[in-house]
Amino acid sequence: MKITGTTIRAWRLPLASPMISARVTMTHRELVVVEIETSAGISGTGWCTTAGVGAAAVQALLSGYLLPMLTGADPRMVERIWHRLWMECHAAGPGGITTLALSALDIALWDIKAKAAGEPLYRLLGGGPRGVPVYASAINLHLSQEDLVAQARAQRAAGYRAFKLKVGRPGLHEDLERCLAVRATIGDDGILMLDANQKWQLGEAIQRCRILTEAAPLFIEEPLLSDDVDGHRRLRQSCGVPVAMGEQLCNRFEFWTYVRSDAADYLQPDVWKVGGITEFLKIAALGASTNLPISPHGAVELSVHLAAALPNALHVENIFGLNLFDLGATTKPLPFRDGLLQPPDGPGHGVVFDGPALAGAGIRLGEAIDRMPLQRDPG
Ligand SMILES: [Mg+2]
Repeated sequence: MKITGTTIRAWRLPLASPMISARVTMTHRELVVVEIETSAGISGTGWCTTAGVGAAAVQALLSGYLLPMLTGADPRMVERIWHRLWMECHAAGPGGITTLALSALDIALWDIKAKAAGEPLYRLLGGGPRGVPVYASAINLHLSQEDLVAQARAQRAAGYRAFKLKVGRPGLHEDLERCLAVRATIGDDGILMLDANQKWQLGEAIQRCRILTEAAPLFIEEPLLSDDVDGHRRLRQSCGVPVAMGEQLCNRFEFWTYVRSDAADYLQPDVWKVGGITEFLKIAALGASTNLPISPHGAVELSVHLAAALPNALHVENIFGLNLFDLGATTKPLPFRDGLLQPPDGPGHGVVFDGPALAGAGIRLGEAIDRMPLQRDPG
C-alpha cells in the first residue's frame, strides 16, 4: 500500500460566546483536517485543533513540507514516518506548531492502519469495546457562581459523575466559595477537578491550593507556568493537592522531565498536541512505567479509543462547547450514557467531518486574523 495523495483544509470556527479561563479569552477554535489517500483505495482522516492561534502555520508546514514528503510511502509504517518527519522538523522546534502538524498527519495514518485491518482504532490499539468514563469539563471562569452551579447541576442530571472547573478568580476565597458550591451540587461522591491554566506563581499557588483542599479536589491542573517543572515539584511537596500536567507539553521528553522530577501526579497528554497517537502511546507507557495514571486532555473523539486500550487511563474529557459536534464540525453527537462513552465500532476512528460549520470559508494562508491589539490588552 502506498500513499498516492493528500489534501488539507483549515477553518477558524467562531464560538457561540467567548470562553474565559485564568489565562485566555477564547473566541474561536481552529481546526486543521488532513486527508491521506492510498493505492488500496483506503483513505485516512486526521486533524488537530488550536485554541485560536496557529492553525495557518500548521497548515503551511503540512502543505509546504510534510505532506509532499509522504507520497509513495507505505502509510502503515507509522513509527518510521513519525520519527523521520519529527527529525525533519526538529531544528524548527521539537514541539508546538511542529507536533500539532505531526498530530494531524499521524492520526490520519492510524486511521488508514485501522481501516486496512478492518478494525476500530481501539481494537487495533489492544482495547475492548468498553464504556470509558467521561468527565464534564467547561471553560467557565467567567460564569457567575449561580450559573456555575446551574451548569454542574445540568451536567449531573445528564449522567456525569466527574467534573472539572476553572479556578483563578482574583479573590483569595472566591475560588473556594465557587468550588464548595459545586461540591455541594455534585455531592460527596462526585469527582471534582480544578484547572488554574498556569495562572499562579509558586507562593500564591501554595497558599491557594491549601485553601482549596476543603473542596476535596482529585487534582489541580496547571497551577503554574508549564515550563516551571521545579515549581510544580515544590508545590506537590507542600500544598496537599495532587498536580495534573500535560496540556502544554508537546512530546515524551517533556513528560519525562516532569516524571523524573517528581513534579506531577497525573499525566495529561493531548493527542492533538504531542504529535498524535504514536507519541501519545509512548507517554502512556511512561505513566505505566512509573505507576502514574493518564488523564487524556481533550480530543474526546480520539481519547476514547486510546482510553479503551490503556489500563492506566482514568477517563476522558468532554469539554462542553469544544467537542467536534458542539463546534458544528460533525453531525453525530457523542454516544454518552450514564457517565460512559462507547468508542465507535466501525473501522478506523469513526470521525467524519461533515458539520454545518465547515460550509463556511476556511483559513486562507497569509490572511491576517482579527486579534485584540496589544495596546488594548489590560494584562
Ligand atoms: Mg487545562
